[in-house]
Amino acid sequence: MPATLIDGKAVAAELRAALGLRVAAHIAKGKRAPGLAVVLVGDDPASQVYVGSKAKQTREIGMVSIEHRLPGKTSQQALLALIASLNADPAIDGILVQLPLPSQIDAEAVIEAIDPAKDVDGFHPISVGRLSSGGKAFVPCTPRGSMHLIHTVRRDLSGLHAVVVGRSNIVGKPMAQLLLAANCTVTIAHSRTRDLAAMCRQADILVAAVGRPRMLGAEHVKPGAIVIDVGINRIPSGEKSKLVGDVDFDAVMPIAGAITPVPGGVGPMTIACLLENTLESYERRMG
Ligand code: NDP
Repeated sequence: MPATLIDGKAVAAELRAALGLRVAAHIAKGKRAPGLAVVLVGDDPASQVYVGSKAKQTREIGMVSIEHRLPGKTSQQALLALIASLNADPAIDGILVQLPLPSQIDAEAVIEAIDPAKDVDGFHPISVGRLSSGGKAFVPCTPRGSMHLIHTVRRDLSGLHAVVVGRSNIVGKPMAQLLLAANCTVTIAHSRTRDLAAMCRQADILVAAVGRPRMLGAEHVKPGAIVIDVGINRIPSGEKSKLVGDVDFDAVMPIAGAITPVPGGVGPMTIACLLENTLESYERRMG
């Protein structure tokens, strides 16, 4: 039997609709709308598109989106001054600085300057520490979205073996923490892992976050496994290009129990979870 297709686009739309109802309920009580500030430095075309989509989806659910588009030659000092003013602004509940930043700016210093109470990307060391020590933390959006998708096909993950391929700070490591918190036995694989296929075949839940088109094939998947493909890779397709994941979808579909497509799987969940983090920040801050 082919795998169940996990429709991230539909799940993200449902999540946004539910968040919109929560926002509307706050506003109906006479409270202000939640506010998300997005800072973009430079004119990287992909980042421009992301920031545009974030702003649009923020407004669609009734939140306030404040965009700061700064020139590529902005100094670190100027960016830190902007972050300080956003930290102090009571109408801002979430601050997101679009990465990557130009080379004259130390991204780590910028992330550390964000008030952890407004760190809706979950990249501040305090958020990272809280996530690993089991405290209440903002969870990075892509892993949070991936967990939502896993839960659409299986509620209780207790005792399952999860293999996460990739150990980046934004996807692999936080994903592993969330699976561990959900009582999975977790293995993190990476470029030095020996016999990756044998390792992956042990997985009840296989998460691919590598950035290599269709790297994981049929030989990497245990029959019935839940396969979450975080990868977004652009490859040539005739005259144009198309997006593919880190998983060879056609080869894995007949073997897996459930699988996310690319596009339309994890991708749409990332912004939805950014909005979820922002609303949670607002609700915490408003008591
Ligand atoms: P990084 O490049 O930061 O990390 C890639 C990881 O893959 C590294 O840990 C690396 O190992 C590992 N890796 C590389 N080659 C191999 C290999 N041959 N075998 C096993 N492991 C390997 O990428 P990100 O985590 O930032 O992103 C991963 C993918 O997810 C990308 O395609 C990206 O576009 C996508 N992405 C999608 C998002 C979404 O919204 N859906 C959001 C963020 C990312 P090592 O550490 O040893 O080098």
